[in-house]
Amino acid sequence: MRIYKFGGASVKDAEGIRNLFSIMKQEGFDKTLLVVSAMGKNTNAFELVVKNYFENKNELQYSINQIFEFHNTVLLELFLEKNHEVFNDVKLIFDNLKEFLKRNKSPNYSFVYDQIVPCGEILSTKIISAFLNFSGVKSNWVDSRELIKTDSNYRDADIDWKLTQKNISENIDKKKLNVTQGFIGSNQNNFNTTLGREGSDYSAAIYAYCLNAQSLTIWKDVPGVLNADPRVFKNPILLDYISYTEAIELAFYGASVIHPKTLQPLQKKEIPLFVKSFLNPKGKGTAISRGIKIKPEVPCFIVKRNLNLLKLSSLDFSFIVEENISEIFQVLHENKMKVDLIQNSAISFSVCVYDKFNRLKELLSILKATFKVECVENVNLFTIRHFDEKSSNEILKNNELILEQRTDDVLQLIVR
Ligand code: ADP
Ligand code: ASP
Ligand code: MG
Repeated sequence: MRIYKFGGASVKDAEGIRNLFSIMKQEGFDKTLLVVSAMGKNTNAFELVVKNYFENKNELQYSINQIFEFHNTVLLELFLEKNHEVFNDVKLIFDNLKEFLKRNKSPNYSFVYDQIVPCGEILSTKIISAFLNFSGVKSNWVDSRELIKTDSNYRDADIDWKLTQKNISENIDKKKLNVTQGFIGSNQNNFNTTLGREGSDYSAAIYAYCLNAQSLTIWKDVPGVLNADPRVFKNPILLDYISYTEAIELAFYGASVIHPKTLQPLQKKEIPLFVKSFLNPKGKGTAISRGIKIKPEVPCFIVKRNLNLLKLSSLDFSFIVEENISEIFQVLHENKMKVDLIQNSAISFSVCVYDKFNRLKELLSILKATFKVECVENVNLFTIRHFDEKSSNEILKNNELILEQRTDDVLQLIVR
């Protein structure tokens, strides 16, 4: 069985869905599972609905209507008959959403988020599955919330592998064409959960793992994995082959073309991952598998923006030792900070963090009770794998260096 993942950019409008159909026509429809994201920027649009629900009730209805109009326009472009049942399916999703918002009493932002935002994926897959059927290709619509089981860590849920494996093996017809959602699952009480933003690549890898797939292909708006993000760097080079380890490292440092959790399940079963362009499906793309480390051998550039660099030292000039460091990490963990780089000296400890949940203020006030804290907000972290002199000069010519760290093969520069 093959797993194909189509991200938001690939299905951003009716044309994107027609393009998906034409790619599948080339590739063949059988023995395939399509894992699909919300169309275009609809996850952001649903995030706004959640925000309005909590903070700006006046705008709530308007923000929901915008999303409804978007999907209705897509339906009108794809389906000739306005009485096609998919119009009703889509309306029902919005009715359920409004009903939930009316009934809900939970003040838990992340819980409410996970009950609302998955609508994006439910909508896109309902529409795509209906469009395939409408075009004469039978497909099974599969609800990931019934198969992917997780804990209750809303917005960043962890997989219950045992249950998920069982559900997927028992419920996916491997011979057919199946369509399901990325990003979403449910907990033991059957409340929706999500796997974190951009989590659909990871969902696809979970399905690939549980189905012992022959391969996973993710269709992107780039020719494959490049040695740098084309939005940031000029003239990036296509990587033809990379090993799982290389890909894990690139994703870990923030190459956002692949969600970092995607590689591990694939590597465990040596399932090859192909990254290909939905704009040029015949292009060779990038193959990620065991073996060749990286081809061609070029430096790879990754940038993470909007980080915060904290420099901690003791109030009484004493050393920063194991005990303090474990305390610091405990506080970082409790405040859900993502740590991107650490560096320590005798009396100071620097840590560069991403404040995903907007908790920097609380964090600083806790740390300041025990440490002297300096914080530089809004710094950028450049990572260069396989760096050379030329590649680091490239970064430093336009940026002010604040901190540098290097190992044999990796140079990291915190700049602003
Ligand atoms: P999806 O539509 O599946 O959500 P994403 O937008 O998450 O796709 O990922 C594709 C984007 O990743 C590209 O448009 C590109 O800007 C960005 N990107 C970042 N680093 C790289 C890289 N090293 N190679 C290719 N693309 C990259
Ligand atoms: N739709 C979700 C997001 O935009 C998941 C994904 O596309 O990977 O984050
Ligand atoms: Mg994405």
